[in-house]
Amino acid sequence: MSNASPIPLSDTSFDEEVLRAAGDALASGWWSTGPRVEAFEQACAEFVGTRHAVAVSSGTAALHLALLAADCRPGDEVVVPSLTFVAAANSVRHVGAEPVFCDIRGPEDLNLDPDDVRAAITDRTRALLVLHYAGYPCDMDALRALAEEHDLVLLEDAAHALGATWRGEGCGSLGTAGCFSFFANKNLPIGEGGLVVTDDDAFAADVRLLRSHGMTTLTLDRKRGHAASYDVTSAGFNYRLDEVRAAMGTVQLRRLDGYNEARRRLVALYREGIASLDGVTMPFADPPPHATSAAHLAVALLPVGADRAAVRERMRAAGVQTSVHYPPIHTFTAYADVRGARPLPRTEGVEARLLTLPLFPHLRDDQVEAVLQALRDALV
Ligand SMILES: *Cc1c(COP(=O)(O)O)cnc(C)c1O
Repeated sequence: MSNASPIPLSDTSFDEEVLRAAGDALASGWWSTGPRVEAFEQACAEFVGTRHAVAVSSGTAALHLALLAADCRPGDEVVVPSLTFVAAANSVRHVGAEPVFCDIRGPEDLNLDPDDVRAAITDRTRALLVLHYAGYPCDMDALRALAEEHDLVLLEDAAHALGATWRGEGCGSLGTAGCFSFFANKNLPIGEGGLVVTDDDAFAADVRLLRSHGMTTLTLDRKRGHAASYDVTSAGFNYRLDEVRAAMGTVQLRRLDGYNEARRRLVALYREGIASLDGVTMPFADPPPHATSAAHLAVALLPVGADRAAVRERMRAAGVQTSVHYPPIHTFTAYADVRGARPLPRTEGVEARLLTLPLFPHLRDDQVEAVLQALRDALV
């Protein structure tokens, strides 16, 4: 174990303003969905650039409700990358549809390959659920054109991409709807929480309804005297966000551009250091000029044939936490039945090389140096 304090993969921070916002929410006496959630939704809609934003209890809940509002159902197929978080495919299954896994572009670009998406489309395809991996926008020009050509719903899993832009427009606002996560390690962390954004009034109304049991009024409306009772028009869920976390979110959102800028600068430092490591690369070295990344993750690719488990163990012993984003979904037991349904050679070509390094806005430059040194030492 090194003498320096361990460097975590991700870390949270808070200050007086966050504490005060959370404390004010507690002191207000109204803890469930209320005015602070409404204010947070409005601020998020403005930030992303959509007409609507609906706050929910997690990113996974956002994906589930977006797929339901997109009318994905049994018999439908939803095209998703295999190289993403399993919540994407699980949510597709929760609406009774089947995920169809697509390949990435390659070691330089871990986002979906639009040509492989085109090849995966069948007459059962209902939606494309695309990821902006590590906060780097995927090729939304090509994916929008495909969705239009085949009359598909285009959903963005923008869990990594709050603040990322494509041709000046916010990721999440580029398709039919976008889903965000406010999990503790995301760019806007509040603990647990999520968001669905859309310009489509009916889509937003469906998400709102399903978020709270399919009930036509909220407890808050009844307290305000706006409604005496309610009807239930579809079998919904309790996917609501609460006031304390919404209050934290509103404060965090004001800082997000600064956080993302700090992340981008740290990733650039990692890139400089990694350039001198034989065989190690960082994807997305050359993103299109019209894309801005939210720099959610610092992902490196180890040399071909490197023993990743050994590298990670040596780095852990040196006090550096690492991770893997992601074990591809088609490799999981729950998806064994669709494994091999489509060839995914480029996903399989990078999966054993993926290594995620520590990244959070208040990571210090000397800590980046220590991570790079630990990686250098672990590779010999
Ligand atoms: C975090 C994440 C989710 C799920 O969000 P939760 O808030 O943890 O439910 C979904 N997709 C991706 C790509 C994620 O990174």
